[in-house]
Amino acid sequence: MSQSIKMVDLQGQYLRIKSEIDSAIQGVLDSTAFIQGPQVAQFAEALSKHNQNCSIVTCANGTDALQIAMMALDFKPGDEIILPVHTYVATAEVIALLGLKPVFIDVDADTFTIDVNQIEEKITSKTVAIVPVHLYGQCANMEAILKIAAKRNIYVIEDAAQSLGAEYTFADGKMMKAGTMGALGTTSFFPSKNLGCFGDGGAIFCGDAKLTERVKMMANHGQKVKYQHDVIGVNSRLDTLQAAILLVKIKYLDEYTRKRNEAAAFYDQQLNSVDFVSIPVRAKNSTHVFHQYTIKVNSGNRDHFKKYLEEKGIPTMIYYPIPLHYQTAYKMDGFGPGSFPVTEQLSKTVISLPIHTEMTNDELMYICSTIKDYPRHA
Ligand SMILES: *Cc1c(COP(=O)(O)O)cnc(C)c1O
Repeated sequence: MSQSIKMVDLQGQYLRIKSEIDSAIQGVLDSTAFIQGPQVAQFAEALSKHNQNCSIVTCANGTDALQIAMMALDFKPGDEIILPVHTYVATAEVIALLGLKPVFIDVDADTFTIDVNQIEEKITSKTVAIVPVHLYGQCANMEAILKIAAKRNIYVIEDAAQSLGAEYTFADGKMMKAGTMGALGTTSFFPSKNLGCFGDGGAIFCGDAKLTERVKMMANHGQKVKYQHDVIGVNSRLDTLQAAILLVKIKYLDEYTRKRNEAAAFYDQQLNSVDFVSIPVRAKNSTHVFHQYTIKVNSGNRDHFKKYLEEKGIPTMIYYPIPLHYQTAYKMDGFGPGSFPVTEQLSKTVISLPIHTEMTNDELMYICSTIKDYPRHA
């Protein structure tokens, strides 16, 4: 049994809906409409329905989605963008690539999302946007972020690559989905994401019609009318095969989220009393879609613990082992050890356990009892 535990079970998930997926793929092959086939628009519509009718522009991957969003907002080289330092590199990468300046902020030690108490002090006359990352599957403190952004007249671009379907509840009771709260939001359909395709894919969530047109234009060579290029854009498309696969899978997204939550609840219940780890803290006002189930190893050596689990047939991952301000490409003068203490600590203590839509109670039980049996002082 321990042999079969996977971090993510893409094969099991596929086999469950194989006939539907296979016929969707065959349909695209039969039509040979590989680019901009009807499934692309159909999927965008299905995704919009799943996200409060927010307008959607699909693109080639989640990194492109971030880049296109920033291009659409017309930022100028040297403009500053605030983002959490505990995130996947893509968030910082596109900022730097566009000649903008990433301004890192530490994260909250409990929720792993941007520490909203540190944002305002980093805002300057050059700040144009905040990019909260809804890390591991739950929303950042959007109430506070949107308030700061409105007060300082800057944009919010949500990186919802890990949080598709998560719901945030504002103080007035209004509920909104991850990615739909800022001026723009972005997501990814990388195979292991909560809604994964069989290759690369991404989408941008657009707040208003004017911005939607601009995003569409940026993703399509800067043209509104064919062969008329008003601005410099990129070529970034979700291909029809991926759209056809996603069109099948989106029907199951809520069920997938439920299964991830069931696995998380099992872990919570079993690991709550294990004194050397702490289980994920639920963010206030957000549901969790558990892209990752990430615990902290509070005492002892995380890497030793990881090796122990590996020897017992339990795969784990570290998101993220090296903070961005330590990365050669993103080093900045004046930032080193101690600059972002929470993130630095998390890089040494976090460990993500297997979580996916096909997990069995036997697997979960085996993982939890193996953790409980960890000979910590050996
Ligand atoms: C996966 C991910 C991305 C990038 O998505 P790709 O489709 O792989 O380009 C961006 N941001 C975060 C937080 C991610 O997890």
